[in-house]
Amino acid sequence: MNKKRIFISSIVSIVIISFAYLLINVDPKNKHPSSKNTTMQIRKPIHINEKTWSTTVTLSAIGDILIHDRVYEDARIENGYDFKPMLQGVKEYLQKPHLLLANQETILGGIEIGLSSYPSFNSPHEVGDALIDSGVDIVSTANNHTLDRGEKAIINAINYYESTGLPYVGHFKDDKDRQTLRILTTNGIKVAYLSYTYGTNGIPVPEGKEHLVNLIDKEKMKDEIHRAKEQADIVVMSLHWGNEYQRLPTEEQKELAQFLADEGIDILFGHHPHVLQPMEFLKAKDDRNVFVVYSLGNFLSGQMWDYKDIGGIASIEVTKKVHQDKTNISLANPQFFPTYVSSSNLQNYRIVPLENADKAGLTNAKEKYNEIMNHMFQWLN
Ligand SMILES: [Zn+2]
Repeated sequence: MNKKRIFISSIVSIVIISFAYLLINVDPKNKHPSSKNTTMQIRKPIHINEKTWSTTVTLSAIGDILIHDRVYEDARIENGYDFKPMLQGVKEYLQKPHLLLANQETILGGIEIGLSSYPSFNSPHEVGDALIDSGVDIVSTANNHTLDRGEKAIINAINYYESTGLPYVGHFKDDKDRQTLRILTTNGIKVAYLSYTYGTNGIPVPEGKEHLVNLIDKEKMKDEIHRAKEQADIVVMSLHWGNEYQRLPTEEQKELAQFLADEGIDILFGHHPHVLQPMEFLKAKDDRNVFVVYSLGNFLSGQMWDYKDIGGIASIEVTKKVHQDKTNISLANPQFFPTYVSSSNLQNYRIVPLENADKAGLTNAKEKYNEIMNHMFQWLN
């Protein structure tokens, strides 16, 4: 090798190493001031071998955060509300994934406009504080309850999210905000989050204010997926859909999932039925594997019985391999960690691992755990 070639290959190596260094130094976990991760964390090293490197991250999601009056009354403290004790029992599991999405079903409009419960919800900002504290990195906010308390509640919620740095997607403050893609970068992988709902409980979206909530519309979704694919490695779709209390997806859900897979999403996290629906891999028309969780159930709510108090954390491993100028993305190792919301006399709401929920008063916890695992994995094994 002559001197010139050695010089050029050294420059190329330095550029590649510098680029990889830049990528791994952007970690959205550090954006939350109250998050426990106040220093840079590299959880899995990127293996750099000249022009080839790979990195793996875990992406996860939890279901509905549906704050009934009995739940916020239970969180009341002297000077406000504290929901952190409700999540404490599962916090160590929520902190594990590189990125965690939650479906914030009730709007965080805050006490300023008065809290409210079913059928027209408004929740305190402290719900968000507890999500940030336990490791949530982004909230999905396109729900059938998004317009429950009108534009004022949405603007209050967005002001809260902006003040804390917790990214939100699904409701927006204006059209510019809606056009701004939410792309979180972790360990060298750029993840775009999109969020849509089937409707808003019959409350019409104010004319000219379509930014207030993203409604399912195949053409709009297709355009946004294509735009997200140009800028991100992975596209995650969060969808509010399906029929309440049904443990299996409808034909419409299956058809829409396949459409979105073919258009380019990599992962779909579903919610709204308030009960768990299974996970599966779909094959997209370009041969990619697309991971779908049809419904994540309730994660924290005042609903009880008939599977409405069982939720969980769904996870998938994403590996990005870069070889020369080719990038390859692969998904592997789908996981589900079932959780249970315990309470007594509409008080003392606590989320606990389902497997050990007998300690929290659930009879046959082990049996329920096995049943739920079989239910979630029935299309994967
Ligand atoms: Zn819903």
